Amino acid sequence: FDLKNEDLKDLQELGQGNGGSVKKVEHIPTKTIMAKKIVLIDAKPSVRKQILRELQIMHDCHSKYIISFWGAFLADPNICMCIEFMDKGSLDGIYKKIGPIDIDIVGQVALAVLEGLTYLYDVHRIIHRDIKPSNILLNSRGEIKICDFGVSGELINSIADTFVGTSTYMSPERIQGAQYTVKSDVWSLGISLIELALGRFPFSESTSDGESDSDYEGTLSPARPGSISLSGLPPARIKRNTPKKDKRKSKGVSLQGGGMTMSILELLQHIVNEPAPRLTPEGRYPKEAEAFIDSCLLKDPDSRKTPKDLLKDAWIEQARVSTVNLEDWASTF
Ligand code: ADP
Ligand code: MG
Repeated sequence: FDLKNEDLKDLQELGQGNGGSVKKVEHIPTKTIMAKKIVLIDAKPSVRKQILRELQIMHDCHSKYIISFWGAFLADPNICMCIEFMDKGSLDGIYKKIGPIDIDIVGQVALAVLEGLTYLYDVHRIIHRDIKPSNILLNSRGEIKICDFGVSGELINSIADTFVGTSTYMSPERIQGAQYTVKSDVWSLGISLIELALGRFPFSESTSDGESDSDYEGTLSPARPGSISLSGLPPARIKRNTPKKDKRKSKGVSLQGGGMTMSILELLQHIVNEPAPRLTPEGRYPKEAEAFIDSCLLKDPDSRKTPKDLLKDAWIEQARVSTVNLEDWASTF
């Protein structure tokens, strides 16, 4: 059917991201509950129409691991996308509410995300590009689905400057300016799984910060010796978080956790230069889980497996035959 903004009644605010906001809405004519995502983009009308055309691919995405799509429309100056409403929300919200997630459940998340990524790539040649706990959703039937994948090249371009908030799941090769591949999504999955199992973002306590007090506020260019290349990203947004000046600007570019603060630049350098995070403490989790996450977080993308290969991993095979009941689990919160 034809989706129109005036047929949608706002019910509840579901969350805010970098590029816009998400609301629970009812489509009055059909009494259907949906999630409406409003994407703020600063683009010409022709570009907006192009984005809308590209989003139509989502009508052809049919997998139980992928959020289903009701439609998109222009509500100028915004683009609205109506997608399946997932009543248990995203996994970041869930662990923030209930604490660290049991490793057997995390195994089910890994299986669902790998299935979703494999479907997107094998059937549509789509690379997700934004795997993180807030883009993995759960409903009370116990279904886990991924959302917010990169279907529209124009949309990716238009919201590129929102990278600051999402770059924390970015693979080392992406930070260094390499092309996105399905293996970059595997890295992001590895980081996300550790976050769920530990109940906190894995980089927030692992860094010795020490003498990181150089006052760096220039633009990053690939030519700058010793710097990391952030090609395609707007350099003006990358600033060291210096609390003494310009408090406003530090919002959203620093990560706080465990009493320390890491600026976005420090975090990106950390991802590139330091060993990848692991499930810790060692021995607390099944060795298959540790091995799986280690293989997602191989820093060299050539050694890292694809989602499809990882579906054959021992931990994932265990998850496939596991008796864990996600519907029961989802009914506990
Ligand atoms: P982000 O993913 O960066 O948090 P988004 O704008 O994509 O930002 O989403 C904001 C929040 O809305 C998410 O964190 C999630 O909790 C919620 N959300 C998004 N899509 C849905 C959906 N289909 N059903 C239920 N909640 C959703
Ligand atoms: Mg999202």
